[in-house]
Amino acid sequence: MEALVAERDIAIQFQQEFKTLESGRDGFVVTASRGRFRAKTIILAFGSNIPVDLGVYGEAKTIARTLDNPKDHIGFSTLIIGGGNAAADVVAALSRAKRDADDATPIFWSNRTEHFEINKDVARDLGEEILLGGHIRILQGAQPRIGEVDEDGVDRLTILTQEIDAGSGVFLKQAMSFPMKHVIACIGTQGPGPIFEQIGLQQITCTEGVCRIGKEGAQLVILSPDHQSSTKGIYAIGGAVSPAYIEIQEEGSFKERKHTNLIFTAVADAVRAVDHIAAQRTA
Ligand SMILES: Cc1cc2nc3c(=O)[nH]c(=O)nc-3n(C[C@H](O)[C@H](O)[C@H](O)COP(=O)(O)OP(=O)(O)OC[C@H]3O[C@@H](n4cnc5c(N)ncnc54)[C@H](O)[C@@H]3O)c2cc1C
Repeated sequence: MEALVAERDIAIQFQQEFKTLESGRDGFVVTASRGRFRAKTIILAFGSNIPVDLGVYGEAKTIARTLDNPKDHIGFSTLIIGGGNAAADVVAALSRAKRDADDATPIFWSNRTEHFEINKDVARDLGEEILLGGHIRILQGAQPRIGEVDEDGVDRLTILTQEIDAGSGVFLKQAMSFPMKHVIACIGTQGPGPIFEQIGLQQITCTEGVCRIGKEGAQLVILSPDHQSSTKGIYAIGGAVSPAYIEIQEEGSFKERKHTNLIFTAVADAVRAVDHIAAQRTA
């Protein structure tokens, strides 16, 4: 694969998160985390586990999803968002790294609700960290609200930590603001339905009796046999269209297609889509 990339001079960009795309005058404009790109054709192949968006108001939204390098947070207060095992794991691992480095800066662990849902093993690791002197501060019911760029050009996330009704429609609000580079959000994953919807690809919502494979309420994207979506020039392949999609057939009828989430299926989809794109170009 690496040899092919070198031979064909394929311009891969790592650490680029797809955000959205718009139709332009001559194709599409894709907005990613670190830039915008023009393209005539787009293949969406982002798998089935899309990180849930924090959904905060404002421009600055790039937030880490995992603890890539604990050293990046040594010497800085860090905010971990999420009430499940993944967040708890990150809290315990970072706390350990900070203790090993004699770093007393705290880890703030926040969750939207009052309850954290973690299993016994993770709770034991976390309890051990607290007993060994980890500086972990828990923020229950804290709401991520605003992503903004401050006057020094630093991307920051503001979370609302307390709200008191002062009467007559007035609220006293307490908030904390963290540099995005010291925020890690472990708030789970979702299917790609919301992304397909956001970019305007047609989907069908499964209701009772309509789908055999898709669960009730699931959204199935509509694709041609070549995996082209309802928007000409945008294709969707692989895990992103599993476990099922709706195939629009030549005569215009629709058929629900089972789509197993396997490497073989993803590669077969890619071949079909790319053959179709190549055929369009030579036509
Ligand atoms: C634990 C496990 C074991 C498995 N074992 C097998 C097996 O033995 N055999 C088999 O055939 N299949 C197996 N599978 C299934 C297989 O991994 C998938 O079918 C296959 O990886 C789907 O390929 P894909 O390219 O569509 O998606 P993925 O391989 O999931 O790749 C999607 C890529 O898109 C990236 N991405 C997501 N969102 C964005 C975004 N917004 N911007 C930019 N990039 C983004 C992701 O980081 C990822 O790199 C397994 C899956 C799991 C979870």
